[in-house]
Amino acid sequence: MRNVVIIGSGPAGLTAALYTARANLSPLVVEGGRAGGQLTTTTEVENYPGFRHAILGPDLMKEMRAQTERFGTQFLTGDVSAVDLKTTPFTLTIEAEETIQTKAVIIATGASAVHLGLPSESRLTGHGVSTCATCDGYFFRGKEIVVIGGGDSAMEEAIFLTKFAARVSVIHRRDKLRASKILQDRAFRNEKITFVWNTVVEEILGDTLVTGVRLRNVVTGRVSELPCAGLFVAIGHSPNTHLFTGQLQTDPKGYILTHAGTATNVPGVFAAGDVQDPRYRQAVTAAGSGCMAAMDAERYLETLAG
Ligand code: NAP
Repeated sequence: MRNVVIIGSGPAGLTAALYTARANLSPLVVEGGRAGGQLTTTTEVENYPGFRHAILGPDLMKEMRAQTERFGTQFLTGDVSAVDLKTTPFTLTIEAEETIQTKAVIIATGASAVHLGLPSESRLTGHGVSTCATCDGYFFRGKEIVVIGGGDSAMEEAIFLTKFAARVSVIHRRDKLRASKILQDRAFRNEKITFVWNTVVEEILGDTLVTGVRLRNVVTGRVSELPCAGLFVAIGHSPNTHLFTGQLQTDPKGYILTHAGTATNVPGVFAAGDVQDPRYRQAVTAAGSGCMAAMDAERYLETLAG
């Protein structure tokens, strides 16, 4: 029987592990197939406090893992394939084989950016293709950038990227934006932003670095090429919550609803990081909420004991 099992090993999960380990709760982290979370797919992280010369995303996650291991955190590599949060102790099944029972669970399974699904997109991710303007915009100073999407995220990313870029072209598959009026107006007023309507990206060009995109107008069928050094895909994020469907309350987009810090609707089950945060989605905010979840779990376990 475990005190606490943490599902996920991004900044939220590893910070929760650090705090629960230092509270003598002997946490187990189920680190999943893609250990380390979204940061392992980025290059330099310049906005995580404490690293004046930046740190590579994978290195940051390695440090976080080693730090929590030092305090006795155990790791299990594998994906949780099923959870039973209806009865206590909670039961987690790993890879449909092993089962674990635990008094408390911290869910830190994160979110995944929705991708276009092009082979060239996965090949060039981290080499000009990105899903995070805040993380990577700085690398495209004075360059031509393309942003894909017509929602709030795309407008925010496009506006943010004009701080660095020579020009930002927003490619949208329709002739109307989905974004809120205020963000639309801000984007339309920005002289560095141009819009390419009714258009989809057919291919991202470049061998080792992005050099441009091949576009297709969905109304006329016309195919064209647009040179660019960076391509930001902003067509939405999707929280990794399919495991918990029917057991935890979520918002309409699937993000776990939390209250009073990191509590979910099931006492003893806490959620931290991007899985419950459609708004900030930063490594540092995820780490902060991982700390909160650990403290909330510790208090919950004290009430069980007491
Ligand atoms: P979103 O609102 O779902 O918008 C996604 C956009 O991507 C849509 O314009 C959609 O086109 C397009 N798209 C989806 N799949 C595509 C594909 N395969 N190829 C090309 N285009 C595709 O997602 P979001 O912008 O990330 O926003 C998510 C939520 O967070 C929203 O509720 C939003 O309001 C909120 N948010 C708020 C703020 C803010 O208030 N400051 C900032 C960011 C996000 P269609 O329009 O044709 O469907």
